[in-house]
Amino acid sequence: MIKLSADNERIKMKAILVSFYRTTDFNPNYYYPLSLHYLKAYANKELADDITISIKDYSVEEDSSHVVYDLLKDSPDLIGFSCYVWNTKEILLISNLLKKLSPAVKIVLGGPQVTYTADSVLTENEWVDVIVRGEGEQTFAELLKYYLNYGPAIEEIKGISHRTNGKIQSNESRPLIKNLDDIPSPFNEGIGDKSHSILIETQRGCPFECAFCDSHKNFKSVRYFSLERVKKDLHYLITSGVKRLFLADSTFNLDGKRAKEILRYIGSINKDTVISTELRAELLDRETVDLLEKAGVDFVEFGLQSTNPITSKNIGRETNFTKFEEGISFLEKSKIQYVIQLIIGLPGDDLSSFKNSMDYVLHLAPTTLQAFELQLLPGTALYENADQHGMLFHVTPPHLVIQTQTFSYSDMMKAKQLSREAFLMYPRNYAILANLSDLRPSELIEKWVAWRETKIDLSFSDYEKLKGIRRLLLFSRFIQELLLQNNSSAVTNLYITVKCNLLVSLIVFKYFNKVIRRLFLRRP
Ligand code: SF4
Repeated sequence: MIKLSADNERIKMKAILVSFYRTTDFNPNYYYPLSLHYLKAYANKELADDITISIKDYSVEEDSSHVVYDLLKDSPDLIGFSCYVWNTKEILLISNLLKKLSPAVKIVLGGPQVTYTADSVLTENEWVDVIVRGEGEQTFAELLKYYLNYGPAIEEIKGISHRTNGKIQSNESRPLIKNLDDIPSPFNEGIGDKSHSILIETQRGCPFECAFCDSHKNFKSVRYFSLERVKKDLHYLITSGVKRLFLADSTFNLDGKRAKEILRYIGSINKDTVISTELRAELLDRETVDLLEKAGVDFVEFGLQSTNPITSKNIGRETNFTKFEEGISFLEKSKIQYVIQLIIGLPGDDLSSFKNSMDYVLHLAPTTLQAFELQLLPGTALYENADQHGMLFHVTPPHLVIQTQTFSYSDMMKAKQLSREAFLMYPRNYAILANLSDLRPSELIEKWVAWRETKIDLSFSDYEKLKGIRRLLLFSRFIQELLLQNNSSAVTNLYITVKCNLLVSLIVFKYFNKVIRRLFLRRP
């Protein structure tokens, strides 16, 4: 791929690394494509004189003709894509067009969605040249050397599957990078638009083995960037005015002592940057919560997935509920907002156990309850044992499960709607309101859905389109009617009306408080 100019000068090879992002109402943030910046930083360490690497990112909603034009306009030699469950369909469509329009361009895919299915992706998509499996930095740099004619033969590059002379071959896997500090900081070249959410890793790997997740398969051993490196990157990001930072470790507080040291450091320099991360509630203590607050962390995520013991066993994820609740109780006294996540359709769960999980979460009154539909990701234990659990799922990404041995399709749809309802309506007070009418929170939500459909003939899709305040006003009407239904005395009616109005006001207040905090939160 080495090209020479008219004066016999070497022309730099051009590579583009591409990310497609998807925003949702659960997660409206746009994230800096950290993995691609790592690839670029590592490759530039040795190859900067011979190659220019640019990074481009697009929304999955973007018009494919525009993306194709934008990618080909500078005549790149290689285009690499970062493949996740939410974008691989679009990537395969666009890379096909790219190859048809520019047959010489090398199409390279990497990322979790193609790591475990490399052979079938190459077989089914003849325009793809190479797939980088697993950790990509060293592998991608070696592949570029091969294209620059000074690397090893393609058969010797560990960690790739490739199509060479029309034949598909899978080379042996590459061991993980021993010292993460060998990867130059991706932030050395700046970060562009500081209003984006910036991701930073302080560690890689996960010691847990959740059967629905592929993260631990490639990254079982936990490796850490040195504290010196982490602090240097954090200092740069925070002092250069980044608005939102996400500590993108699978469990930031896995090593409590180290997490505290990082938080202490952030707290000592941070004035305006808003920070979020994922934590394990069972490992939380009061001191960590204090440090999170002082560091400017305003939002944290906890994966609970299910409270059903059979399901926990099936997915290899046991929860110590006493410790879990203790961890959450520390947060309740802080200003930090938190989401507790569940998964719909895990093996062993059915509608009734899913409602139990929902009720448990709503009693803990998180800022948000978030429930994902189970996706059977290639490479995960659940994907491999799909038949054993009677799982029906979409074979193409995003691999959503539509039915299991224990969870019928229609019950999955009901569970999905219930959790969506809890997301649309501020869930912190469901448990209190449900208690007033001797209902479980999930039963209250079911009554609320039935009331809307029968009493005011409002379909779910029309309800979803209403503004938050209209939803709240409707909800307040429903709650008052429900509470008054079983009580006829005038005094009781008055008492219930007052109490209900106070509760609804509280919901409104907390709703606006949340919105205001999101929009204007600035730490002193
Ligand atoms: S879901 Fe989280 S905790 Fe479980 S294996 Fe994956 S990364 Fe680890």
